[in-house]
Amino acid sequence: MKCIGELLDSEKYYVNGRIAIIENKEAVMKVFGLKQEQWLKVWNIDPRILTLFYKSYEAEFDWFIVVYDYPAFCADQEIKEAIIWHELGHIEYPVYEQELNVDSEIQCDGLAIKNGHKEGMRKVLELTLKMASSLNHEILSQITTERQMKLLG
Ligand SMILES: [Zn+2]
Repeated sequence: MKCIGELLDSEKYYVNGRIAIIENKEAVMKVFGLKQEQWLKVWNIDPRILTLFYKSYEAEFDWFIVVYDYPAFCADQEIKEAIIWHELGHIEYPVYEQELNVDSEIQCDGLAIKNGHKEGMRKVLELTLKMASSLNHEILSQITTERQMKLLG
């Protein structure tokens, strides 16, 4: 099930077009390979960092940011804003499903930082690294560490 969380303010985010944040647990679980909701707890994953960004094929919207749980996503403003800016960066720096591209990720982090969300980005990367290490995902750990170094540098 898909439900609209909010429509982004195009002036605030300097975007052309209509971008909506939607909540879709099933879609997020599928893309991230989570067969059951309990896996999040087992693996110590904060679902706020499991977001998707894709072009809409519906007339009313241009892009969707898909989140696992909208109220949880909004709980920390710094994290929320950092993720929104990062995802918007992917309009210019696309990364395809199941692909990891450290250069694009760093560009997108840079957009969030430039717009005042360094602290949020720091928190997001901390959560991502936590997830990568509990999943024992070496490439994700490496990429996240590289992003952290960029953030600090
Ligand atoms: Zn990204």
